[in-house]
Amino acid sequence: MREIHELIESEISRPSVFIDESVLYPEYVPVRIRHRDAQFTQLARIFKPILLKPGSLSVKALLVGPVGTGKTVTAVTFGRAITDSAERKGLRLKYAHINCSRSNNTASIFRDLKNQLGLPIPDRGLSAHEMISGILKILEREDLYALVTLDEFDYFIRSSSSEDRYLILRLYDVFKEEVKRMSFLFVARGSPAYIWPKLDSFTGSYLMKNLVTFNPYTAEEIFDILNDRVELAFYPGVVGEEVIDYISNLTGHDTGGDGNARKALAILHAAGKLADKEMMEGKADRVTLDHVRAVVVQEYPALINLLDTLHYLPLHELLVLKAIVMALNVSGMDYVPIGEVEDVYRRLALDLGEQPRGHTKVYMFVNDLRRRGIILTKTSMKGRKGRSTYIGFGAVPLHVFLQKIDQVIQGKRMI
Ligand code: ADP
Ligand code: MG
Repeated sequence: MREIHELIESEISRPSVFIDESVLYPEYVPVRIRHRDAQFTQLARIFKPILLKPGSLSVKALLVGPVGTGKTVTAVTFGRAITDSAERKGLRLKYAHINCSRSNNTASIFRDLKNQLGLPIPDRGLSAHEMISGILKILEREDLYALVTLDEFDYFIRSSSSEDRYLILRLYDVFKEEVKRMSFLFVARGSPAYIWPKLDSFTGSYLMKNLVTFNPYTAEEIFDILNDRVELAFYPGVVGEEVIDYISNLTGHDTGGDGNARKALAILHAAGKLADKEMMEGKADRVTLDHVRAVVVQEYPALINLLDTLHYLPLHELLVLKAIVMALNVSGMDYVPIGEVEDVYRRLALDLGEQPRGHTKVYMFVNDLRRRGIILTKTSMKGRKGRSTYIGFGAVPLHVFLQKIDQVIQGKRMI
């Protein structure tokens, strides 16, 4: 017993890089939401009627964007803010947040809803219809309003029948209440083009007007998001700016990443964990770039090795490599003939005001890139006559690589 007690004590008092690790958990809601002012403004404009003319209409908005672009955190924060405003006006508005990947049919969605609103309705034995009818009745009786977020709504859209979609998207066409006490935020991954075909045309054109788009974050935006968390999560001086910068560049949309803040935070968290473990062993006292690399290597091994190598290559070899990737990108094939690569290379060199190297030199570069394991070559292709060299590239997605290599080329030219 005493030993366990000591164990707990020493675990609590051991040195750590973290002040508060929970700030890095995905479900943590930050005090400041960065770079989403436009979305908040738009939401305020769309939902204004529920404060100004409560009950006059049921407002709906559709929030779309790729994963990790702050849709959920924006919805939650907006929900909290508007309930606050309502309260100050003496309006009883409640916010509920339902995840449709967990509650994936109408009955469980509305069961979840009545639980979150704390409405006394039995759990079992009720159809979705009966449940909704019960909810609406109590809202009316208690003079309550509700703003409901249906998050991961694309799950519901994919798996629901058109009747179920109608029931939710056109609730007040099914239940003809005079006072509209429920409004909705629909949150979906991906692009609207994916969702429209599943909507009836009335709902589609309505939501088109109330569409709030979330673009992938740039490196600079991710930097700000990470920086806020670093201050709360880590002891001062433990995470240097170079670490935040590196993760931002890795994940920023404009620097070749997918603009996913969740991924950026996960990398920071994992690197912090690794540093924390090493601190316990007396091997580290801060989070370093190597901790970040060690974490990222598990996810993008090829890209990291590749980028390290690129810095050693001469400018014209880099241009040949860029030409290969561009030619592959344009053709959509897995291999391109060296002749096409040379054409693209010559154009790239001339665009930079560089004298293109001759065929022999290009061939040498290609061989070097092959030896380094950056590209693949073969000398004949099925369905093509003659012998020629064909070049392929398999390490990382082409568009990711293209953005990265441009940075390296630019760096080379500045020296
Ligand atoms: P989505 O719902 O679009 O997949 P989330 O809202 O879950 O994205 O955001 C992913 C993670 O990144 C969460 O931990 C969230 O707190 C954080 N995050 C996203 N956008 C921002 C932002 N603008 N400011 C601060 N933190 C953000
Ligand atoms: Mg989300």
